[in-house]
Amino acid sequence: MADCIFCKILNGEIPSQKVYEDELVYAFRDINPAAPQHILIIPREHIAGANALEEKHKELVGHIILTAQKIARQEGFAEDGFRIVNNCGENAGQTVFHLHFHLLAGGKFDQMV
Ligand code: 5GP
Ligand code: ZN
Repeated sequence: MADCIFCKILNGEIPSQKVYEDELVYAFRDINPAAPQHILIIPREHIAGANALEEKHKELVGHIILTAQKIARQEGFAEDGFRIVNNCGENAGQTVFHLHFHLLAGGKFDQMV
């Protein structure tokens, strides 16, 4: 997608701090961290958000969650705990319309949900 910031990150037009990548997903550090560890996990495929997911994406979504676990182990916070967040749509505060999961860690979170 031409004007998608995350597609530009994927094709290298916008630099990013890579944490992990494979054939399906890419993970990098959030530019404006909301926790000591704040990583974004995105599919290589441009999907606007959770509300645009289809049956065919089932495996991809499972892969993203397992990737979060893999990164948590890689970065050493799997045992202490982490939070996976997806904001979908305006009311949830989604600002980038390329599906992404926030992986947050490095301290105790307020009990929001
Ligand atoms: P959302 O609010 O849509 O759930 O999350 C978008 C996230 O993308 C925000 O946490 C924001 O800081 C991050 N972000 C936006 N633009 C960039 C960028 O160019 N580089 C990086 N690394 N993160 C970005
Ligand atoms: Zn995109």
